[in-house]
Amino acid sequence: MRARFGTAGNPEGFYAAGKKQSKQMPGWLRERGLDAYEYQCGKGVTVGEATARAIGQAAAQAGIALSLHAPYFVNPANPEPDSQAKTAGYVLAACRVARWMGADRVVVHTGAIQKRTRQAALATARQCFRTLRHRCDEEGYQDILLCPETMGKINQLGDLEEVLTLCTEAEGLLPCVDFGHLYARSLGALDGPEAVERMLDQMVRELGVARASQFHSHFSKIAYTPRGGEARHLTFDQPDFGPDPAPLCEALARRGWSPRVICESAGTQDVDALWMKGAYLRALGETAEG
Ligand SMILES: [Zn+2]
Repeated sequence: MRARFGTAGNPEGFYAAGKKQSKQMPGWLRERGLDAYEYQCGKGVTVGEATARAIGQAAAQAGIALSLHAPYFVNPANPEPDSQAKTAGYVLAACRVARWMGADRVVVHTGAIQKRTRQAALATARQCFRTLRHRCDEEGYQDILLCPETMGKINQLGDLEEVLTLCTEAEGLLPCVDFGHLYARSLGALDGPEAVERMLDQMVRELGVARASQFHSHFSKIAYTPRGGEARHLTFDQPDFGPDPAPLCEALARRGWSPRVICESAGTQDVDALWMKGAYLRALGETAEG
């Protein structure tokens, strides 16, 4: 099993190539040498069944692994029953589309702390993810993994430890480790080979190597501010901020892990995903063509 690399949504290069529809993305990604695609439902689950099935068919033909990003409006850490019901509604709607597409992973944000302690927010989110997993199983989505994501703003729940704790609530939960977010919320501390090794070791300790090695991932360089954390996504060409993608690619190859790495660069997701795949293959001792 190999690590897969792909894009979050449709990069600028896709439109520059004269393509318009997401169902053209899987074939285009394959031509580019990539093998994963994360469909974005961050602003709502609005995609219809026919479109979703067409994307799924194209992905199956092109050998592209599909995941889906659930709406940003979820807040698993908010204990209000109304909010919990809305979160469940969004996640179930995302799973329905994932089923139409044949996507096997749904990424879910972990929520805002608001005026509570981190501990209280985490306790609410743990209960929420356990319930979400249960509801999704009941609806027949047992084979679709829910992936709580590490978040980039300091006032959000979702550092690595919190996300790993959430994932201990059920087997059907897999971390979405967004290394750009972790870099931003740590104000640049989580960068470089030692930090990468520490994070991957932490995942093994909490989840065991079998689960940890299959993790879901987002990667981009991210600008941050000292008070808030995440400010904006950058491209790999922009040198002012990190994290450096090389140590992760090398660590994945050295460990023989096979995660799915989704690049969230600002417009250059395909170019930067290919950069990562190249670094990974070089570390494996292969070339992109081989
Ligand atoms: Zn996200």
